[in-house]
Amino acid sequence: MERYESIVVGGGVIGASIAYHLARLGQRRVLLLERGMIGQGTTAQSSCILRTHYTVAENVALAQAAWRVFADFPRYLDDPEADCGLTRCGYLIAAPAGEKSDALRMALDGQRHFGICVEEIDAPRARALLPIAEFGDDELIGHEPEAGFADAYLVTSAFARSARRLGAKIREGAEVTGLARSGDRVTGVLCGGEQIGADQVICVQNVWSGELARWTGLALPLTIERHSVMSLETRAAPYSRGMPVFKDLASPGLLYCRSYGGAQMLVSEGLPGEALDAPDTEQADVPLDKVLEVGEQVARRFPAYAEAGLASSWTGLYDVTPDWNPVLGPLPGIEGLWVAYGFSGHGFKFAPAVGLLVAQAMLGQPGVVPIETYSLSRFARGRLLVGRYGSGAVS
Ligand SMILES: Cc1cc2nc3c(=O)[nH]c(=O)nc-3n(C[C@H](O)[C@H](O)[C@H](O)COP(=O)(O)OP(=O)(O)OC[C@H]3O[C@@H](n4cnc5c(N)ncnc54)[C@H](O)[C@@H]3O)c2cc1C
Repeated sequence: MERYESIVVGGGVIGASIAYHLARLGQRRVLLLERGMIGQGTTAQSSCILRTHYTVAENVALAQAAWRVFADFPRYLDDPEADCGLTRCGYLIAAPAGEKSDALRMALDGQRHFGICVEEIDAPRARALLPIAEFGDDELIGHEPEAGFADAYLVTSAFARSARRLGAKIREGAEVTGLARSGDRVTGVLCGGEQIGADQVICVQNVWSGELARWTGLALPLTIERHSVMSLETRAAPYSRGMPVFKDLASPGLLYCRSYGGAQMLVSEGLPGEALDAPDTEQADVPLDKVLEVGEQVARRFPAYAEAGLASSWTGLYDVTPDWNPVLGPLPGIEGLWVAYGFSGHGFKFAPAVGLLVAQAMLGQPGVVPIETYSLSRFARGRLLVGRYGSGAVS
């Protein structure tokens, strides 16, 4: 029987990063099994925004560690050809008076505590950075210059390639159908009608984590949500690549926007999405009503977009946990079994740091934050990771 030190189930950006970091930390026999192709899961649908703007301190620390990797990607991977498609355009976030600006102020203070460069800026300065937007009514505007967005395909494939270079094996078209166990210990996985042996197994299945719940009988809290994303274009006000990512806490939909290449704006809402019973990754129609609803909000902030056309729209799935933060670490009662799921629509930015954190924990090493913070048991213990913004992708 084939045997590995570690098997990673799921080849999204998180699984690829974990496989790479296990190999980087010295494991010689690592196997990643992906049912489809590397990066074709929810990672392919990501808006890929990178920021450290959180109020949960552990999230700030992870996002900061990950940003350092994105900002120095070829050197980190020891691969001069590695490219994560980073656009260092910065991040702007505007809030109306009240709870939202209080939370924003607190987030900026928390980021400063980590030595992250952030500033509170006035409307003219915000307009200089993002001249296509209006900022007259905002109580507080935060600016994080060292932020931006990257490319999901480039990042995931770079981690996979680097993992391979370090000796890891990556199999595509390889569906895991169950776990092999001996008593209360995991001994491998079932794949293609065969058993593959491993000392440790880590499941990184995102919206498909219900399979792991069935294999183990453990309750893994998970809601699957469908979210819509649109790209809009107007010649009058191109959202060019150097313009910052923008989060609009004043809009009813808590919109986020970024450049989508050429002159287009990518825009999506920061509200809970449509709950699904099953992980249906087929593209769904984005109804015209939704386009109009979002378009009106965009036009309020970006007046020239009142005339914008819809260039494209698509949908993507979030694997949402009760506090909108991931579950990382060992699963109780089954020795050698680990999980990393529940990134709740904001996991791309963490990928390099979570990959390292989880790999370190699997090897018994400490990481940048205590991994216990993200344990499954936090839900039962009532230790939810909810920040000043409440539950959501900015928490
Ligand atoms: C519309 C949208 C916008 C987003 N925007 C951002 C953003 O701006 N910034 C940000 O930080 N994050 C964002 N995210 C979130 C981020 O993209 C995800 O958190 C991240 O990509 C999740 O990676 P993953 O590896 O957990 O999951 P996935 O990429 O879904 O990978 C899971 C993989 O597991 C495989 N798999 C499952 N079960 C099995 C099995 N039994 N056997 C073998 N393989 C299996 C699947 O095929 C899949 O490839 C966004 C997400 C969406 C949907």
